[in-house]
Amino acid sequence: MVQKLRHGLSGEQFAHPLDRAGIQRLTDLMAKSKVTKNLTENMHAEAEEQFYLLNLADNTKLSELQGSSVYRLVQEIAEILDTPIPSVFLDTTSEVNAYALGGTNPSIVLTSALVDTFPEPALRAVIAHELGHIICSHTFYRLLAENFEWFSKLVSLIPILCPLFSLGVQWALFDWYRKSELSGDRAALLGTQDLEAVQNCILRLAGGSSRLGNELRIPEFIEQAKEFQEKMKAKREQNIKERIKFLFSDFMLQHAISTHPWPAVRLQEISSWASSKQYALLLAGDYESALAAAPVPTDEDRFTLPAPPGEDIKEYVKDLGKVAGDALKGLFKRSEPTDDPDKK
Ligand SMILES: [Zn+2]
Repeated sequence: MVQKLRHGLSGEQFAHPLDRAGIQRLTDLMAKSKVTKNLTENMHAEAEEQFYLLNLADNTKLSELQGSSVYRLVQEIAEILDTPIPSVFLDTTSEVNAYALGGTNPSIVLTSALVDTFPEPALRAVIAHELGHIICSHTFYRLLAENFEWFSKLVSLIPILCPLFSLGVQWALFDWYRKSELSGDRAALLGTQDLEAVQNCILRLAGGSSRLGNELRIPEFIEQAKEFQEKMKAKREQNIKERIKFLFSDFMLQHAISTHPWPAVRLQEISSWASSKQYALLLAGDYESALAAAPVPTDEDRFTLPAPPGEDIKEYVKDLGKVAGDALKGLFKRSEPTDDPDKK
């Protein structure tokens, strides 16, 4: 039986710490320019209105009288998460996808391929994940990341927008975008209280097919996620030269400039959070203690979910300095005069 969460759940209480740190870095970068800050605030309100209009024009708005079986799922999950029911749109496309936008007038869009191919528990998980993005106020920056190319064309028309599209902001934006998925997955778990459904949803997004639907197995995917984490761990334990080489490999650079999150990482993160104290406290309605119980990200998290290269390079340069420092100290030690006659 899925229990309704206590009133007053906020994004802060369940958001992944790497998501929170990422959005802080992003807003700090944006806030450096007052013009950019004001413009993004205006764009936010404008984008919400445009998104709603576009959906009214292009997609089917679901309700109790229109596509009611899917609309009812959204109603149920919004009630469990104690959040207002957003407008729900169905988009006809072969792409399995869902997205959300809005703060004051939120909407979520589900694609027909998603609704047609996902079993109900996984579809519930997707809906709860999208509601999570709304609760965490992620949606504007996610829209910016998803349409970065389109927005960056505006720069040629409005030069004061330039700071918004610097490489530093782009990296911080994409980096945060991937980490925001981790909070969405936590909302998926809170809204369904069904870890297998969330895992199944991530597995299907990694590589799903209606033909293979019943043959896809979570334990196999968990093994795949473990193999990935072990390989990333081995990369971290290489010497500094090799680590820098890996950081600049095509694999890592493509990752840095893409919005695509790694499903293998998402699977591991949500599976371990499901047995955390924070999750249990949230279900029990003890939101204050839940926030205090939030696990602090470890170095392992930071490497499996790397920060933008700019940040990492600073770390590595620090490491390089340390190594050089140690070598120099060794040199002085060897040449230090000693009073011990046995050592002469
Ligand atoms: Zn998401």
